[in-house]
Amino acid sequence: MAALSEEDRAKAIGILERVRGEIDAVAGEDAELRFQVRRYVLKRLEFDERGTPTQRRKLKEQKWKFQKGRCWECGEALPKQGAELHRLRAIDGYTEANTQLLCWACHARAQAATDQTGGLVVGQQRVAATDHAAGADSTLEPEGT
Ligand SMILES: [Zn+2]
Repeated sequence: MAALSEEDRAKAIGILERVRGEIDAVAGEDAELRFQVRRYVLKRLEFDERGTPTQRRKLKEQKWKFQKGRCWECGEALPKQGAELHRLRAIDGYTEANTQLLCWACHARAQAATDQTGGLVVGQQRVAATDHAAGADSTLEPEGT
């Protein structure tokens, strides 16, 4: 993903400074309230980007059934705990078409292969992020069927 331009970065810093100022105004000298408000805002911003834990758990269950409990990459049986939802393109979020359920090792490899633009690197060729996402539907057939 391309870095923010100087102009957009300045705007983002402005947003952050305003939010910090509002938290200070609400919390005053109350350290516990500051902690709670900061944490609340942080979590909601995270949900904006990643969805809620409940949404991700439901998607994991769907993917588990669709992939018959097997890693999308290596085909090994996934552990009951610790299977990883991998986004093909981070910016497209945790949707059915944009995710695969992977074992820990395959997820680590996929993370390492994903370059800064959010596209997937296959061998030495970078698959354009949009091409990869567009082709995602056709790759949703579980192996062995
Ligand atoms: Zn795997």
